[in-house]
Amino acid sequence: MTAKSRLAPLKGSTIPRLELAGVLEAVRLDKLLQEELEMDLEESLYWTDSTIVLWYLQNTEKRFQTYVANRVAKILEHTTATQWSYVPTSENPRDDASRGMTAEDLVNDERWNKGPGFLYQDRSNWPRQPAFNCAKLEKMAKVKPSLVVYVINTEDYMGKLISYYSWHRIKKAVAWFLRLHQMLRKKSYQRGPLVADELRTAEEAIIRHAKKMLLDDKNTRLGILNPKKSASGLLLVGGRLTNSKHEDCTKHQLILPSEHLVSKFMVDDFHPRAGHAGVEYILADTRRRYWIFKGRKLVKKIVHQCITCRKLRGKAEVQQMASLPESRVTPFEPPFIRVGVDYFAPFMVKRALSQVKRYGCIFTCLSIRAVHIEVAHTLDTDSY
Ligand SMILES: [Zn+2]
Repeated sequence: MTAKSRLAPLKGSTIPRLELAGVLEAVRLDKLLQEELEMDLEESLYWTDSTIVLWYLQNTEKRFQTYVANRVAKILEHTTATQWSYVPTSENPRDDASRGMTAEDLVNDERWNKGPGFLYQDRSNWPRQPAFNCAKLEKMAKVKPSLVVYVINTEDYMGKLISYYSWHRIKKAVAWFLRLHQMLRKKSYQRGPLVADELRTAEEAIIRHAKKMLLDDKNTRLGILNPKKSASGLLLVGGRLTNSKHEDCTKHQLILPSEHLVSKFMVDDFHPRAGHAGVEYILADTRRRYWIFKGRKLVKKIVHQCITCRKLRGKAEVQQMASLPESRVTPFEPPFIRVGVDYFAPFMVKRALSQVKRYGCIFTCLSIRAVHIEVAHTLDTDSY
């Protein structure tokens, strides 16, 4: 009555997936026929030559990747696993549609017009499908791609690179990178270890990368800083200190965005060098060269996360004290009924022409805070 074939998508899809898509197509076609034919249909029977698809439908144990699971669910919404049977590839008329044939062949072809021969025989003679094998299914379903291609978005290679490093290391990494760049462009380049100039250029390159984010972020109110451009095209704080005798980098700091990893690295770098000092100190320290947007918030966050700072500013634990003894908590007694005693000093006291030692003896009432002090002439028991 009707037939339908579809082209396989150009983008790589595995054979089992294509077969599954084909089976889903059969289900859709059946749905269409049932709706459009004004006849009562009793039962739909489906055949496929794909063992793996049949097993997918029979499987109740394993979970599949989302692609497979979604399609299996759709198929089973409309049919049950028992409606599906196996047809050997040699008897499957599907190939006539997918491989194509001449008009003459099509007219004369028995299989295309009448279906596979076994349909005219008793059901017991129909081809048997391979027994369900869960382990094999799992093995077959895991089709590994033979080639993995990583696509790197060249726009954000810097962001990716940066996320692996700390401030100092990223500077070195970018410096080497820039040297390689010079080498590849066959320009004259520095040999041997990195030099300070190269690190400075690398730092500029990193900050230039961060600048993009600064300009893209609509929430950053650059205007309040009265910014200006440096000779190398970086954004600097304008401010009102132009006539001051400070260094230029302090008067006109480089502007950095608040959310960027570079700003975080910068504070991470300043923080331990400042001996894990407080937020304001670190902020002032960074502002000798850089102006980070919402810098205080960032510094606070980093100080809060720093384990050394936590240890330094941590509160000492307090011992849990036992209950007070009865003598300390009995009310309505005259003072000094129960006392604690201690000695203190000695003090040197002048007596006639010599100096002698005298001690203080302090009596503390245990129930109220009354104190009484006596002089102890010596440390022996009689004197006490
Ligand atoms: Zn710290």
